[in-house]
Amino acid sequence: MNVIGENIISLKQEIPVVVKLVAVSKTKPVGDILEAYNAGQRIFGENRAGEMLLKKDQLPDDIEWHMIGHLQTNKVKSIVSFVSLVHSVDSLRLLKTINDEALKIRRVVDCLLQFHIATEETKFGFSIDEAMAMIGSEEFSKFESVRICGVMGMATFTEDNSLVRNEFHALAGHFRMLKESYFANIPGFREISMGMSGDFRIAIEEGSSMVRIGSLIFGERK
Ligand SMILES: *Cc1c(COP(=O)(O)O)cnc(C)c1O
Repeated sequence: MNVIGENIISLKQEIPVVVKLVAVSKTKPVGDILEAYNAGQRIFGENRAGEMLLKKDQLPDDIEWHMIGHLQTNKVKSIVSFVSLVHSVDSLRLLKTINDEALKIRRVVDCLLQFHIATEETKFGFSIDEAMAMIGSEEFSKFESVRICGVMGMATFTEDNSLVRNEFHALAGHFRMLKESYFANIPGFREISMGMSGDFRIAIEEGSSMVRIGSLIFGERK
């Protein structure tokens, strides 16, 4: 087997079976994705709508495409018909756009709410107060074509493992808070998307249900 396939197999051996592996294929060619696919991988994450659409058209239909990067409202229409999960919902405006476009084609799109858990300023996402205000709003209550399945976050890019752990711990706390307050009877609200190549082991210890791993599978990006 090729290196990419071997990386998939060894990650699947290490990750508990209840934790889903999202293979982050951004910037990588379709040939690399096919190598992962041939090793059994079916969930791929991309951070640009245009790139995802191009790749989807060249690859098998049973791939689940996950949008993991910041999504502009004007790009929603291009992926709404096929995207399996949007990890990066970071505003009411974006959620409304996904809802409106999905409604037009009679689809329900699964979404995660992205939280800002890192100390870096540049990362997108809600605070817990902002998310609760949104979920409690009248506008939110009318959305019928999106399904909120959980939360997502990125930890600070640092060697300081205790900081990373605290941030993942906080995200898992936000998940529990939302579950208890709004989604207690909704079994579909169950995902905590956290953990990347450098920190997925800590994320799993803190309760991740979905890890998003790129460079450990495909090699470093340019
Ligand atoms: C690029 C990216 C990843 C994967 O990063 P690696 O360090 O290569 O595993 C995960 N999540 C998001 C949101 C990303 O943009």
